[in-house]
Amino acid sequence: MSNNPLNRYELPARSPYRTRTNQKIVPQQIVFPETKEDPSHNPKNAEAPASDEPQIAEASRELPRARVQGQPTSFYRVNVKASPAQKPVEENKFFGNCPRCEWKGYLTFAAESQADVKLCSCQAEICPQCNGEGGSIISLESGNRAWKTCDCRKLARRMELYRAAHIPSRFADKTLDAFAPNDDSQAKARAHFYKLYYDPTSNRSFKPGDAGVLLMGSPGVGKTHLMVGFLRNLILERGIACRFQDFGLLLSDMRDGYTRDVPEQHILQPLVDIDVLLLDDLGKGRNSKWELGIIDTLISCRYNAGRTTLITTNYTLDPETTLRERSRGRGHIDSEEFLSRDTLRDRVGDRIYSRLHEMCRIFFVRGNDYRQILQKP
Ligand SMILES: [Zn+2]
Ligand SMILES: [Zn+2]
Repeated sequence: MSNNPLNRYELPARSPYRTRTNQKIVPQQIVFPETKEDPSHNPKNAEAPASDEPQIAEASRELPRARVQGQPTSFYRVNVKASPAQKPVEENKFFGNCPRCEWKGYLTFAAESQADVKLCSCQAEICPQCNGEGGSIISLESGNRAWKTCDCRKLARRMELYRAAHIPSRFADKTLDAFAPNDDSQAKARAHFYKLYYDPTSNRSFKPGDAGVLLMGSPGVGKTHLMVGFLRNLILERGIACRFQDFGLLLSDMRDGYTRDVPEQHILQPLVDIDVLLLDDLGKGRNSKWELGIIDTLISCRYNAGRTTLITTNYTLDPETTLRERSRGRGHIDSEEFLSRDTLRDRVGDRIYSRLHEMCRIFFVRGNDYRQILQKP
């Protein structure tokens, strides 16, 4: 367990809901040691979907419609457990049919500095499932009773995690479902993300520590879109702590840190500790010894800790492809590094290169630069 304050288990369970009395909710201390909430104890509590069907608590079928400040009545529902590949099915229309959030209960949006998330207006202000209490006492098969945290608290915590992930604003609406592949390699990469998130054949879901993904290819083929789409599912659907880090920005943050006497550790440690790190545009920069040192520290520490790392890079495995792919994305590359024949291996060093092979499944993504069509935001 890391000491990272962003760790999901240590986050304050702040709720976006008000209680009926506007009082701070303090769950009563009735969690018995042998009955505390543990997904392996009770399959109903498991984060991962056990089947292809969306997992919706049976009890919510009886939920009364909640009337909220003059709005039309709506069903309160937090279907945070459905896999991203699932589309709402006809029979679930009973639970509400919100076209805004597509059954998720939350909406991500581009705030000024980074992507943010809010509760959808289809959600009741006071959660009718727990009556604003944040949870309820349940009876277990063993005869014991335990405090079960309501799904509304889980969602609140996940929304906090999303904000802490520092996803850039321009990726606020990027989902795996919204990704339109224009090449087989893109479709293959997306299929891998779906499978990694949840593999129906083995009934296995992604766990922090699983092998990551490295996407290489020219700029604008959707590498970061795919990564962010996967990341948001891990955060908002599974409650896994993730972090987006642009590699070029990391370098400038660290340079900036030296002038302000901020120790390297302060910047690097949170990136080492986070369960899932997305390192965007690895290899960007001047390829100096100092930059190689930073890559080495970051990747080695995560490798040793067995943490999942996701990486995108414009550099490929051999000089000719690198040159060709990078020249395709001419408009997106700084002139100083343009037309470098460096391979990924040149950019990260032999040791890290071989570690990346161990840590990540590698995909070469090709395709048209759709940023030129859609215009870079
Ligand atoms: Zn909604
Ligand atoms: Zn609730």
